[in-house]
Amino acid sequence: MKVLIIGSGGREHALAWKLARSPLLTRLYAAPGNPGIAQEATCIDLPVKDHASVVTFCRHEEIDLVVVGPEAPLVAGLADDLRAAGVAVFGPGAAAARLEGSKGFTKDLCTRCDIPTAGYHRFADLDSARAYLKKRGAPIVVKADGLAAGKGVTVAATVGEGLAALEACFAGTPGASAAEVLIEDYLDGEEASFFCLCDGARAVPLASAQDHKRVGEGETGANTGGMGAYSPAPVMSPAMVERVMDEIVRPTLAGMAEIGAPFSGVLYAGLMIGERGPQLIEYNVRFGDPETQVLMMRLDEDLLPLLDAAAHGTLEERSLRWRDEPALTVVLAAKGYPGAYEKGTPIRDVDAAEAMDDVVVFHAGTATGTQDLEANGGRVLSVTALGRTVAQAQARAYEAVDRIDWPEGFCRRDIGWRAIEHEGSEPGDGRDA
Ligand code: AMP
Repeated sequence: MKVLIIGSGGREHALAWKLARSPLLTRLYAAPGNPGIAQEATCIDLPVKDHASVVTFCRHEEIDLVVVGPEAPLVAGLADDLRAAGVAVFGPGAAAARLEGSKGFTKDLCTRCDIPTAGYHRFADLDSARAYLKKRGAPIVVKADGLAAGKGVTVAATVGEGLAALEACFAGTPGASAAEVLIEDYLDGEEASFFCLCDGARAVPLASAQDHKRVGEGETGANTGGMGAYSPAPVMSPAMVERVMDEIVRPTLAGMAEIGAPFSGVLYAGLMIGERGPQLIEYNVRFGDPETQVLMMRLDEDLLPLLDAAAHGTLEERSLRWRDEPALTVVLAAKGYPGAYEKGTPIRDVDAAEAMDDVVVFHAGTATGTQDLEANGGRVLSVTALGRTVAQAQARAYEAVDRIDWPEGFCRRDIGWRAIEHEGSEPGDGRDA
């Protein structure tokens, strides 16, 4: 099979790395890709926003499957245009991508299909939103509707903080502006990410993960795209996975099919696991970054036929095989990220890290410089390791990080702390790494 991956991040490198190991694969392309992806695929310079040019390329190269990594092309309808041209694609069309593109749409679906989620109200004007928030009190959550790259959500500990967030939303603050705002009840519990492959009607559970969104150790500082992750999430026991499939994922697929927008692709549920069981915080309609890096390290079967079946509506409902070992990834970012940072700084000795068994360094924002690999973005590398325990995976990932010579980079040193605490509290389980 000939496959085209759309995207250029650590997530797409992890997908390329896994797909490249498929015996069914004859040729792998990536647009635009990055230097890490170039080790697995032919990187091409396609203007992805111009859907017609993607279609032309796929026809010319006789691409059998397009795998869309990021959300923006999905929300923009790339999958629809490819399907209309007869090209098979893994990823939802624009109507189904509203599960990520519009928080209000997803909340209304939850109400209609009785999916457990935080109580909410939608507001289109500041005055009524303010009045509601004051009446409701804190803690409370304010969300701008629409794609806000993770920046549109404020978990307000006080009413004052909530009101300030509302004003920012309606005042058009960059990254937070919206025509509509959602005010949600605050949910208590432990967060987990859960991934499923879907073919419009059926869903196959992938695995769970937990990520670290804040830039600082101990979950402090600014929000980022994600500074690290591990899989599986200890809170996602097999029984909890079953509940999530029954109470959240399957009703969602049924609800989407009912409105004529069947969902195919990867459904990424952000969950809060609390006393009342699993609650849906949000959906994403694509793989997570950096969660994909840990998922691909653990998946113990061929990814390509799974993505192909999801694209063709022929998924078989069954349990997939996973490595028993947990995986953990540490993101190396450019100093200053998520604020201003320098590009073009040299990165050396990535191969020394990759010389370790069961360690893969996935590239995100890298470029090939005249002599060395160079940093070319905020999140630059995702150093990923398997271990017998999360503690051991963490120790191995940091050993690999320390082999990389990049003085202008930094990482958090506590990725996986919650799972390691959990392991430490289990008799006979290891903190022996
Ligand atoms: P979202 O973009 O909807 O995933 O929200 C970003 C983050 O805000 C989540 O990962 C949670 O940590 C937090 N969050 C969102 N909604 C709630 C809620 N209703 N209660 C508590 N925390 C929330």
